[in-house]
Amino acid sequence: MAFEGLADRLQSTMKKITGKGKVSEQDVKEMTREVRLALLEADVNFKVVKDLIKRIKERAVGQEVMESLTPGQQVIKVVKEELSELMGGEQSKIAVADRPPTVIMMTGLQGAGKTTTSGKLANHLRKKHNRKPLLVAADVYRPAAIDQLETVGQQLDMPVFSKGTDVSPVDIAKEAIEQAKEEHHDYVIIDTAGRLHVDEDLMGELEQIKAAVIPDEIFLVVDAMTGQDAVNVAESFNDQLELSGVVLTKLDGDTRGGAALSIKAVTGKPIKFAGMGEKLDQLEPFRPESMASRILG
Ligand code: GDP
Repeated sequence: MAFEGLADRLQSTMKKITGKGKVSEQDVKEMTREVRLALLEADVNFKVVKDLIKRIKERAVGQEVMESLTPGQQVIKVVKEELSELMGGEQSKIAVADRPPTVIMMTGLQGAGKTTTSGKLANHLRKKHNRKPLLVAADVYRPAAIDQLETVGQQLDMPVFSKGTDVSPVDIAKEAIEQAKEEHHDYVIIDTAGRLHVDEDLMGELEQIKAAVIPDEIFLVVDAMTGQDAVNVAESFNDQLELSGVVLTKLDGDTRGGAALSIKAVTGKPIKFAGMGEKLDQLEPFRPESMASRILG
């Protein structure tokens, strides 16, 4: 399970401080040193760790702890709040367009889980929000990708708009939105092409689709298992496309957690959903607060 190592380490650090009736500066120093090492080992971005530790230190030797009746617990609360804040604090909501359909563009590198996540998101919107999504196959370079989305659509009993590989992705996206209007779909989820690496062709095409359909959400799907790479990919996609959010997949694996803890701080864009397995119902809204609680126990 994700974060196991980090959780173990942070929890044993917190145990040392929990019952303290007084927290000295030395205690704080030791605690933040251990937290710092644990986060670095979990592959959290170096600068992110530095800023976080600075904030924790300031608050942990500050008034809110000194004046608390249970200083040890107050320190833990501070760490929990700062971890949650780091991951975005409040849970982010999915956009709703003033006039339907709401258009969501799914982007990401090949293998990150984009097609699976498109299906999961459609399923989530139907099940939890009572919506009627239309899935759109816009990866015209890999026939297998189109087949895969169609299979996902069949599994969910949900329509998939596809035009094979001869029509341009921009035209596919535009036509799909027209069809969605006619058939009263309130969400359009466009599964765009992925590549093995971030490259100019990929970005150029995504920019064209963005300009043509003006999406309400541009999600980047990234694989949490790839750690700092996920953060770097998120930075490049965000620079080029101005993402509205990130979906972190494979959080069910034994990822060290660095990506989850760095992406918001590095890109400024929230993680909106987390993929928790291969099945189409294994997508969860990302909740920074409960994630921080899970890590700190
Ligand atoms: P794409 O190339 O980005 O469209 O990626 P796919 O949707 O084809 O997914 C690549 C692989 O990752 C597939 O085997 C998926 O089943 C798997 N996958 C996607 N999301 C998750 C997840 O949240 N957890 C796990 N364990 N596997 C996932």
